[in-house]
Amino acid sequence: MAELLSTPIEYLKGIGPKRGATLRKELNISKYGDLLYYFPFRYIDRSTFHEIKEIPYLKGAVQLKGKIISGREIGSGRGKRYEAVFTDGTGRINLVWFKGINWIKSKITPNSTIIVWGKPTQYGSKLNISHPELEFIDPAKPIEKGLQPVYHSGEKLQKAGFNSKGIERVISNLLPTIKNQIKEDLPQWIIHDLGLMKKEEAVYKIHLPDNEDEAKRASFRLKFQELFYLQLELLIRKQIVQKKIKGFTFGEIGAPFNTFYENHIPFELTNAQKRVIREIRKDLSSGIHMNRLLQGDVGSGKTLVALMVMLIAIGNGYQTCIMAPTAILATQHFQTINDMLSEMDIKVSLLIGATKKSERNVLHEQLQQGEIDILVGTHALLEDNVVYKNLGLAIIDEQHRFGVAQRSKLWKKNLLPPHQLVMTATPIPRTLALTFYGDLDVSVIDELPPGRKEIQTSHRYESSRLRVFKFIEEQIKIGRQIYIVYPLIDESEKLDYKNLMDGYEAITKRFPLPEYKVSIVHGKMTPEDKDYEMQLFAAGKTNIMVATTVIEVGVNVPNASVMIIESAEKFGLSQLHQLRGRVGRGADQSYCILMSGYKLSENAKKRLNTMCETNDGFKISEVDLKLRGPGDIMGTQQSGILNLKISDLAKDNQIVQIARDKAIALLEKDPKFENEEHQYLGKKLKAIIQSKPNWSRIS
Ligand code: ADP
Ligand code: MG
Repeated sequence: MAELLSTPIEYLKGIGPKRGATLRKELNISKYGDLLYYFPFRYIDRSTFHEIKEIPYLKGAVQLKGKIISGREIGSGRGKRYEAVFTDGTGRINLVWFKGINWIKSKITPNSTIIVWGKPTQYGSKLNISHPELEFIDPAKPIEKGLQPVYHSGEKLQKAGFNSKGIERVISNLLPTIKNQIKEDLPQWIIHDLGLMKKEEAVYKIHLPDNEDEAKRASFRLKFQELFYLQLELLIRKQIVQKKIKGFTFGEIGAPFNTFYENHIPFELTNAQKRVIREIRKDLSSGIHMNRLLQGDVGSGKTLVALMVMLIAIGNGYQTCIMAPTAILATQHFQTINDMLSEMDIKVSLLIGATKKSERNVLHEQLQQGEIDILVGTHALLEDNVVYKNLGLAIIDEQHRFGVAQRSKLWKKNLLPPHQLVMTATPIPRTLALTFYGDLDVSVIDELPPGRKEIQTSHRYESSRLRVFKFIEEQIKIGRQIYIVYPLIDESEKLDYKNLMDGYEAITKRFPLPEYKVSIVHGKMTPEDKDYEMQLFAAGKTNIMVATTVIEVGVNVPNASVMIIESAEKFGLSQLHQLRGRVGRGADQSYCILMSGYKLSENAKKRLNTMCETNDGFKISEVDLKLRGPGDIMGTQQSGILNLKISDLAKDNQIVQIARDKAIALLEKDPKFENEEHQYLGKKLKAIIQSKPNWSRIS
């Protein structure tokens, strides 16, 4: 039965060697089964049409039936376009093409009946659809009933006859042959609980649904299937790892933790901090290796949690380390931790790229002797000659800044891997966390320390520059400090550098010495110079810090209360949120001003508005996911490995949750897949797990 679906694609009616090669190359379709699993991304309802006169009251895309009555080429160079006037008898609309003008000209014959599909926009009193989909029809024939699938295509595919319609045609040659060829691979009880369509039916109906309801049910079944397998895979991987890898058992809280908690802790822990420490403590005492992700919005107090967890490790006789992505941040952690532990007998050391050779030698020696309790540093911690006596716990701050390979190096610093806590201030939407980190445990600090005032965020254009400067002046007068951040997407981009320098010059002119002191920090400076400037600012010796995004993560200067982000439209949402998180760390009212040009894309507008509307990192991450898609957020490499054919993590969050719940239920019911109805599923999963490297593990 598997044979049919593994038949080479060339053998299918209507394909042949040449077109088969195109399918292989362009869509990675080499067998019947691959084609069957090439799903449409939407449907056209062939039986209902909108009218042009109702368009102003409609939302989204429309389907119209009518005629093109005239067409002409307009403009030249980049503004060149082709405009056709289309009417359905109730009004007129312009169809516009900026690309493929010659092709469209050759296609359009006046007065033939066509179906137009696309999203209208209104310019003044004129209605436009740019790059609509067209279908030429024979008015004498009745229009086919039902839904017509639409498939993604591309230029090379179209040339080989595989526009959406062409793909539909070959798939409709395949569908009649699949009867009894597709084995059900979900257990009956799940199909029953969720009222799912059978697999064979779903695979058929996704291509040829009779109505919208069928299309929806087919798509739900296939999405569920995909996500359910994925969740099972993640859960099983987690079990395998936990069984294989024993962890150090930290049997007691220990004296350092208790002494610190009773005598030196600078403030009362928030409830969220307490809860998270309890969760971690439970892991550490369980004998199982901890691999935990700690999510907490900027300013939620992750550093203190990290410190207290390290104290538990130290109390059990182990060394610990904390790694941060930049020298600025590592240095700051070092100072914070040292200050908090100043009255305790705990040795804290710092290792960054700039640490001198002579100091390093001493440090390496002390580390091997077990004299250092906490090692704080940057990537420098990963070097081979950094050897511990007994590293029991490794913490990674701002983990999204590190690659998988770097994280795994840290993991290998011991024969028995140290417990790992990775921290991030970039909240990951739950859907993504469950999918990408499904084999990790996740703790969330969902509460900010008390007394914080909501940061006030506004969006301003260049025309308000003078008023913004005036505002800076007032804030400096009352003793506050200011960040002004410029985009520097790529440190080598000369243009960005010039913007930064021009900005710096303008600011020093407006805020001159000796009354004002302005610092600057950017990627081209040596780490020592950066640190020096940062320290001046942190100590309140400069009023304004002009910087690139090097200050994005972690930096903590509570007296800085204004964050100005230049060319804010160039930043992504999570980056804007991170930058804003540099202020609002003290008790004063803080402000974030997003400066932008006038020309903004829809997407950029949405980003800036979202920032003005909310301070909630999780809400922001949800919007971010919708705008950018999971690939951009998690790194295309990671999301490519997921290889999702039909699910969309940005939209299908509910299905992810259902799949997760059902996967857990199954593993509870029958952890070894011994029941007859789970055996096939178990076999398939085993094959999947063995065929892939363990990509998702943060290790
Ligand atoms: P993040 O989670 O972004 O790393 P930090 O650890 O830098 O946040 O903490 C932000 C600020 O909040 C720091 O100034 C820290 O001293 C302070 N802080 C942390 N925990 C508390 C608390 N429980 N109560 C009051 N302030 C706190
Ligand atoms: Mg931090």
